[in-house]
Amino acid sequence: MGNRGGPAAPPRPLRPLPRISAPGFTSRVIQVRKRLATRRTRRHDARVPTRTPDPALDREACYRALRTRDARFDGRFYTAVLSTGIFCRPVCPARTPRAEHCVFFPSAPAAHAAGFRPCLRCRPELAPGVAGWRGTANTVSRALALIADGAWNEDQDVEALAERLGVGGRHLRRLFARHVGAPPVAVAQAQRVLFAKRLVAETAMPMAEVALASGFGSVRRFNDAMRRTFGRPPRGLRRAGEGEAPGGAIALRLAHTAPYQWASLLAFLGARAIPGVEQVVDGEYRRTVALDGAVGSVAVRAAPGGGHLLAAIRISRVAALPAVVGRLRRLLDLDADAQAIDAHLARDRSLAPLVAARPGLRVPGAWDPFELAVRAILGQQVSVAAARTLAGRIAAACGERAPGGGLAFPGPERLAGARLDRVGLTRARAAAVNALAGAVAGDASFLQPRGDLEETVARLAELPGIGRWTAQYVAMRALREPDAFPDSDLGLLRAFARGGIRPSPATLARRAEAWRPWRAYAAMHLWTADAGGPAPRRKGA
Ligand SMILES: [Zn+2]
Repeated sequence: MGNRGGPAAPPRPLRPLPRISAPGFTSRVIQVRKRLATRRTRRHDARVPTRTPDPALDREACYRALRTRDARFDGRFYTAVLSTGIFCRPVCPARTPRAEHCVFFPSAPAAHAAGFRPCLRCRPELAPGVAGWRGTANTVSRALALIADGAWNEDQDVEALAERLGVGGRHLRRLFARHVGAPPVAVAQAQRVLFAKRLVAETAMPMAEVALASGFGSVRRFNDAMRRTFGRPPRGLRRAGEGEAPGGAIALRLAHTAPYQWASLLAFLGARAIPGVEQVVDGEYRRTVALDGAVGSVAVRAAPGGGHLLAAIRISRVAALPAVVGRLRRLLDLDADAQAIDAHLARDRSLAPLVAARPGLRVPGAWDPFELAVRAILGQQVSVAAARTLAGRIAAACGERAPGGGLAFPGPERLAGARLDRVGLTRARAAAVNALAGAVAGDASFLQPRGDLEETVARLAELPGIGRWTAQYVAMRALREPDAFPDSDLGLLRAFARGGIRPSPATLARRAEAWRPWRAYAAMHLWTADAGGPAPRRKGA
């Protein structure tokens, strides 16, 4: 959505058809009712296939979910209605359209790209993006995250996006066609419009700021795109009285898939909160944030009645807002396919009671991958509380004071040459942090997921002081690898001890084979039940 470092291209004309290259797909094209074309908004002819564009979507199942307004399907598909030209979430309170008028899309951008307008009642821009619903296509999830953060936009080459993901451009385009139903360019355009719609509807931000925050190069382009999509000027979409957070923060809802274990996530983050940087108070997670030269703070709590979280965001540069929201989504693991994960893990006898006790348990992510990786090193061989103290000392010694009074955790440039033995780190651990900082300072994408899990872990483990445990833990939390699994972890081994004898890591790894591709979630269940949390077995192990 963002458009850093260059003017935005004007939104290109919408595509009349989602680009689908699925085998056996017959795109019988029909003309939507004339009145759609002659609407005030004068959209292009919304020509759509009569079949569900994504072969993975089962028409019958989608329609059933739609008729029952089944919340479990929210974010999994979108219903476009031929007679109105509008697309909806499965939970839309509006009257259920007739089956023959419905076309189902796997993503909001796909429906948008096919020429449909987001519904103003169910607000598709608020639906969670279900990760993992797309099977093992982790590459797609990562690409969507980069686009949502504004790290890639359509002014750049698709090849540039593919390169960051470690795949070829053609392969990426194929993956998008199959799993998203729209090419990356259309996704970037749709994301911008949908994010702008949220800011207009949910906040009191001035329109010029909304345009900037959602990545439009100019207010005129923003106005044009909003008119084209919603058939009215942006101010016609504003809701009175929403988005007023105390102290002038931007208040946004963060939707999540259901179920969601907020209490467990909050407890995990609270136990590890870095003094001065983060804190958990009164059921709220707060932290200082710094990214791309912007500084500020975020606070997140559960909404009364559940269903979503509420974020209050202060940021010195509004253009960083999409990235802030994207980072929060990953930190809080909002898009996990919780039902699929729970159902899969519950098939294991030992895990079933844990899943039943904490349905929707998430893997806490990281606000900043570097900060998390430093934390992982500090956590080697010491208690959670001791690691927290060390992290707090590093923040106090090397971090910068943010406007709100909190500390921003120091970046890699700061820590690459810092004398960390002075704050109580052993020489080896100080060297490990320095080496990690040097690697990230020299290569900004060092802590981005690249290749598969094994490649990622091997790359991390090349650094001094980072063994397999640390690498797997970093992969799990900072790189969002749902299948990462620190098999040498003491807490995990303890969970499977029989008669006081712990299994070997190899034995545990064999057992964990059945939990793929969600081993990280199994680890979280075991740690949460054990209450000891992650614990590396030995130095660098
Ligand atoms: Zn709707």
